[in-house]
Amino acid sequence: MSDLSRRIFSLFFPEHCPFCDNIISPGEDWCADCRKKVAKTEDCCPYCGKPVCECKERKHLDRVYSLYFYEGSVRDAILKMKGDGRAAFCRSFGRILADRIPNEGFDWITCVPMSKKELRKRGYNPQEWLAKYIAKEKELCFRPLLMKQRETEAQHTLPLAKRKTNLNGAFALSKQVEILGKRILLIDDILTSGATLEESARVLKEGGAASVFAAVIAVTDNRLKPKEKSDIIEENGENSLKTD
Ligand SMILES: [Zn+2]
Ligand SMILES: [Zn+2]
Repeated sequence: MSDLSRRIFSLFFPEHCPFCDNIISPGEDWCADCRKKVAKTEDCCPYCGKPVCECKERKHLDRVYSLYFYEGSVRDAILKMKGDGRAAFCRSFGRILADRIPNEGFDWITCVPMSKKELRKRGYNPQEWLAKYIAKEKELCFRPLLMKQRETEAQHTLPLAKRKTNLNGAFALSKQVEILGKRILLIDDILTSGATLEESARVLKEGGAASVFAAVIAVTDNRLKPKEKSDIIEENGENSLKTD
């Protein structure tokens, strides 16, 4: 879309800041206020993506890029994106996240998969939309490399110790994809225990991928005290949305 047609389009369908919902100028992804205010994850470990390193829990993910901590207006925006049909936020987050990801010679970009039942329930896969917007920004090729072959318990309803086993055998490589030696960028919305990304990366690596880098909008802060942490998990549960 040209700059002029984008401006005309925005008169009729204005874009909104995902964090405060105010109308933003055409071509902007978020407002100047929120750009200053929202807490970014710049000091997280680059390999596991957490403020307090959890690298010993990760065997297959090579690196994690993220934007924000999963709290306050970030949490609200992601819940709206996933639950309230604000699919347009995928574009804003996709563009902001694309800026955060360096060019690492990726062959393909993909996302964590949803089961057919989950897809029917939500109507669309937010992770896939995010990945496709990032692909467009970075001129990468999106491929649905993974599929979810069985239903699982919602990760946020389980204690941390059960989250890994809950996913055993849940993901598989999509048929007819050859990923031997490929460098893959894997997209999800939130990193909580890391079990979903780690299991996805395991399947990709065992299928022959040379490297799997992940990118997410937000990570939960593991510096919080256990009480505060369980509050966040409960809150997610009330909204019955997947976070992991
Ligand atoms: Zn804003
Ligand atoms: Zn680490």
